[in-house]
Amino acid sequence: MREETVRDIAQKKNVEGILFFSPENIRYLTGFSGSEGYLFVGMDENLLLVDSRYITQAQEETKGCRVSLLDKGGITGVTAQISALGSKRLGFEAQSISVALSEQLQEGLKQVELVPIKDDLERLRGSKTGEEITLLHRAIGIAEEAWKTVLEMATPGAQEAEVALELEYRMKKGGAEGTSFDCIVASGPRAALPHAQPTSRAIEEGDFVLFDFGCRYRGYCCDETCTVIVDQATEEQRRIYGIVQDAHDRAIAHVKPGVKLAAIDAAARECIEQAGHGEHFGHGTGHGVGLAVHEWPVVGKNSQDVAEEGMVFTIEPGIYIPGWGGVRIEDMVLVTADGCEVLTTIPKDLMII
Ligand code: ZN
Ligand code: ZN
Repeated sequence: MREETVRDIAQKKNVEGILFFSPENIRYLTGFSGSEGYLFVGMDENLLLVDSRYITQAQEETKGCRVSLLDKGGITGVTAQISALGSKRLGFEAQSISVALSEQLQEGLKQVELVPIKDDLERLRGSKTGEEITLLHRAIGIAEEAWKTVLEMATPGAQEAEVALELEYRMKKGGAEGTSFDCIVASGPRAALPHAQPTSRAIEEGDFVLFDFGCRYRGYCCDETCTVIVDQATEEQRRIYGIVQDAHDRAIAHVKPGVKLAAIDAAARECIEQAGHGEHFGHGTGHGVGLAVHEWPVVGKNSQDVAEEGMVFTIEPGIYIPGWGGVRIEDMVLVTADGCEVLTTIPKDLMII
């Protein structure tokens, strides 16, 4: 159990314990890898509640917490067991619970004052340990190996969807538990859609092909985008690619402890704006990656946070021109004592395949 930080947060918020619902936080704190469970972290006891599907798995995977069977369905069973602990004031993970569920929680815990906790818990997984970084490296290694072998399929006539499917298959075959999100393979004008779904469109000569892919290894996700050109590139394609690459490189050069994440975003954004494409870069520059593929922190213009040693986040500027195509270049970086280490290893110079 990694409960010390949770206890510090509980003390700060003046609550007797905190209730967790998100599978990622529960996995982080206890090691339990099931998709559903409820965790109570108190000052001197930890209680993991699971239903009969997960009881054996939870007992095998966890250490330092009592595992208990939920005999009544869902939240009713949870409130019955939590009531029995006799707490007066409890915190709960506000980010991962619906309004309906929080009402049920309050209904079942009438005698308890419930305190929603958001920011402190978001930061819980922000700084990665050496063990976590090893798992991120493993995930990246599997995903990159699969991508390199699938690249030869991306020839004129191949459909986006079949290339994407093959990439997902090869990541799993390479040892991934699954994908960290549905792979994006977007070609030609479809590369202008930042979150395109692969379609039956056949790749053509001269297309940009944008691959955004990642897999999970022992819970840890990776996320990387490579944009390549099929056969030959036009002057304009090279120019646009160059702007995005410059934005990407400048943002990475800015990363070190103490730097505002908004300043890292600005480094990329200014580069794209100065080239006259500000309106074609609508999303943030990056996001944290770990047990969830998108997690705290956000590397965006409204971020109030600063880079800290141990954080892992993406740097992924892009230019998307409707009807023409788009380029995104995405790497994962680890903030180190004096700068950053780029965890993803595929070179990001323009690749013509
Ligand atoms: Zn991505
Ligand atoms: Zn990403």
